[in-house]
Amino acid sequence: MYDRKSMKAEEFIDHEEILETLDYAERNKNNIELIDRIIAKAKERKGLEHREASVLLACEMPEKIREIYDLAEQIKKDFYGNRIVLFAPLYLSNYCVNGCVYCPYHRKNRHITRKKLTQAEIAKEVTALQDMGHKRLAIEAGEDPVMNPIDYILESIDTIYSIRHRNGAIRRVNVNIAATTVENYRKLKDAGIGTYILFQETYHKESYEKLHPTGPKSNYAYHTEAMDRAMEGGIDDVGLGVLFGLELYKYEFAGLLMHAEHLEAVHGVGPHTISIPRVKRADDIDPETFDNGISDEIFCRIAACIRIAVPYTGMIVSTRENQKVRDQIIRLGVSQISGGSRTSVGGYYEPEPEDARSEQFDVSDTRTLDEVVRWLMTRGYIPSFCTACYREGRTGDRFMSLCKSGQIQNCCHPNALMTLKEYLEDYASKETADIGNALIGKELEHIPDEKVRKIVMERLSGIEQGDRDFRF
Ligand code: SF4
Ligand code: SF4
Repeated sequence: MYDRKSMKAEEFIDHEEILETLDYAERNKNNIELIDRIIAKAKERKGLEHREASVLLACEMPEKIREIYDLAEQIKKDFYGNRIVLFAPLYLSNYCVNGCVYCPYHRKNRHITRKKLTQAEIAKEVTALQDMGHKRLAIEAGEDPVMNPIDYILESIDTIYSIRHRNGAIRRVNVNIAATTVENYRKLKDAGIGTYILFQETYHKESYEKLHPTGPKSNYAYHTEAMDRAMEGGIDDVGLGVLFGLELYKYEFAGLLMHAEHLEAVHGVGPHTISIPRVKRADDIDPETFDNGISDEIFCRIAACIRIAVPYTGMIVSTRENQKVRDQIIRLGVSQISGGSRTSVGGYYEPEPEDARSEQFDVSDTRTLDEVVRWLMTRGYIPSFCTACYREGRTGDRFMSLCKSGQIQNCCHPNALMTLKEYLEDYASKETADIGNALIGKELEHIPDEKVRKIVMERLSGIEQGDRDFRF
């Protein structure tokens, strides 16, 4: 029985409710009155229920699809302006005891090189990431209680935060590790993590069990209820995601929104971010073997409908996607992207040798961070290295209430300009720096409050003199 407040996975992600939602969406995909009503509701910018959003995703009328895209673009502009926050993944270890059939780190893969970074190696990787200009990392590790116990993860987080190379610092570490206990989530919270990210992969229980035949991750309920344990352990900001391509995208979309509704209903705060990865080619993985691959067009529709349904939730797209797709999807609602990424264990400090590769998937966007920053600016975006909120205690419901009142914009825009300035001073090529400094000059005019503008201008000159880490 569907109950968004239930703490049982099979009740808040109720299979029958999803099937009924898909049926409702299919029956109404050309119901112009209903679609107009849903679009009118979405224009209030308070989000949509999973059934309503599913109708928009199923809609087949070209003029209404155009309206959906236009609204997504407008909501993106209203909530996130023209800023894009940048981050990089850091893989700590690819030892894994699970049997996920779509991931080359599955236990039975004897072909892939297994690696686990030592603390000294992490220090080298972090130094290299700082020298690129990164301030925000997402750490990743396979699930292996012996090779990657929680103490190893905690020690690694400490190491990452302790490294200071030249003007560099990693100011926010987001964590993407396997579902764990409330006690371990509490430890992660105490270690000062930003967002806890865990992809559901698929919300379809039967498919989930086939795709995860062995290992602790095969327990659907334990995995699906992980965010509740994380929040019970004190982690305010959690990041959801599904791996598109494993199951029918309409099913995943409804499940994803039901999960968000559940978190909001139970904890009073929805997900901080939603990631939208697609299955990619990797060591012993061929994406063609999965029947549910989605086109770029459908991928963009999903992003637009997520943007409309959960306007306050950040959306992340990684270098799994190529430049062309990232170009389209950023416009429709993505707020964070990775840049200059390596998906191998190590690889930032020195490239992996050809005969000992450890990537989780092939990167489609292989540009350097400098190239990504320059590309964003020439497309009219402000690349942001901001990490201010969690360091100012703006997490969970505090963060959401600032978002909902629109006040967060007063922080995001100046912080984007100041962190971009740091990047230009410390890491950018001359060409990027010239474009960036001109952009900052232009963007200063868009700070509405004269007092704030003056403070930002003073801080920008401070950065030119060598000061760092200003934030609102
Ligand atoms: S997806 Fe995660 S849990 Fe599954 S095999 Fe890969 S690293 Fe392990
Ligand atoms: S001010 Fe907060 S919400 Fe805005 S970009 Fe910075 S960390 Fe994100």
